[in-house]
Amino acid sequence: MKVFKKHIYLFLSMVISTFLLVGCASSNNINPSNKNTATNDTVKTTRGKSEKSPNNILVHYINVGQGDSILVQVNNKNMLIDAGPRDSKDKLISYLKKVNIKKLDYFIVTHPHEDHIGGASYIINSFDVVNFYAPKKTHTTKTYRDMINALKSKNLKIHVAKEGVSLDLGKDAICEMLSPNRNDYDELNNYSPIIKLKYKDNKFLFTGDAEALVEKDVLSKKYDVSAEVLKLGHHGSVSSTSEVFLKNVNPKIAIATCGKDNKYGHPHRETISKLKKINCKLYRSDLDGNILVSGDGKNIKVTTKN
Ligand SMILES: [Zn+2]
Repeated sequence: MKVFKKHIYLFLSMVISTFLLVGCASSNNINPSNKNTATNDTVKTTRGKSEKSPNNILVHYINVGQGDSILVQVNNKNMLIDAGPRDSKDKLISYLKKVNIKKLDYFIVTHPHEDHIGGASYIINSFDVVNFYAPKKTHTTKTYRDMINALKSKNLKIHVAKEGVSLDLGKDAICEMLSPNRNDYDELNNYSPIIKLKYKDNKFLFTGDAEALVEKDVLSKKYDVSAEVLKLGHHGSVSSTSEVFLKNVNPKIAIATCGKDNKYGHPHRETISKLKKINCKLYRSDLDGNILVSGDGKNIKVTTKN
C-alpha cells in the first residue's frame, strides 16, 4: 500500500510539473529558434521551483562608446534602439550574438547621425529584422546610404517613427512613441522619437538625442512621461534633460550613453547636478560599461558589466 501511494504521488507530481512546464512555455511563447536570456531564466526557475515563474523585462544599454544602442527583451521579443557608431559594430554584433539574438522584432534608428546608425547596415545584414522604424528624415552620408541599401537588399520597408506609433511587445507591455510631433526640425537630433515603455509597473523612457524643444512639445501634449529609468537625451548633454522634463519623468535611475573621455564632455556637469538634486542614481557607459536593467513588473535591478 505504501509503495502504491508513493507511485501515485510520483505520478501526480510528474503530471503537475509537466503541466506547469507546458503551461509556462505556451504563455511565454517560447520559440526554440529564438531563445533569449530572459526566457532561459524563466524555464530554469520553473524547473527548479515548480512554480509559475515571474515574467521579466531586460533592457541592455550596450556600451558602444560615444553612441547609442539599446536592446529590450520582453515576452520573448527583441527590440533594438539604435546601432552605435560604425567603429563599434563588431563589439555590438558580438554582444547581440552572445545573448542569443537571431531575430529583432523591432529595429528602430532614432535619427541619421553616425553615432546612432553607424552599425545599422551591419545589423540589418546580420540579423533577421522584422520591423524597421526611422523618423521621416533622410541624410546624405555614406553611412545613411549603406543603411538604405541594406534595407533594400533585405526587402525591408521603413515604418515612420512618429508620435502615436505603438509597438507590440506582447502581454503586459505598452510601448508608444510620444514624438516626433512636428514634420520639420532645424536640428537633426530632434527627429529622435521619445519612446515610453511600460511593462506592468516598470517604466522606461528612451529619448535618442531629442533635446529640450521636443521635451517641451511632449509635455505640452500632456503625455505621461513618468518613468523609473530614463535614458538621458543626447548622451547627457545640457541641450536635453530640462528641469521641467526631469521633474515630470522623476526617474530613480538615469543612464548616460557616452564614450570614455569624449570630446563633447558628455554627460555635462549641469545634467549631473540636476540628477543629484532629485536623488537620481546615474549610470554611465563610459565608467560602468554595459548597463543591464531587469524588471519583474514591480522591482528593478541594475547590473553593470565591463
Ligand atoms: Zn548621439
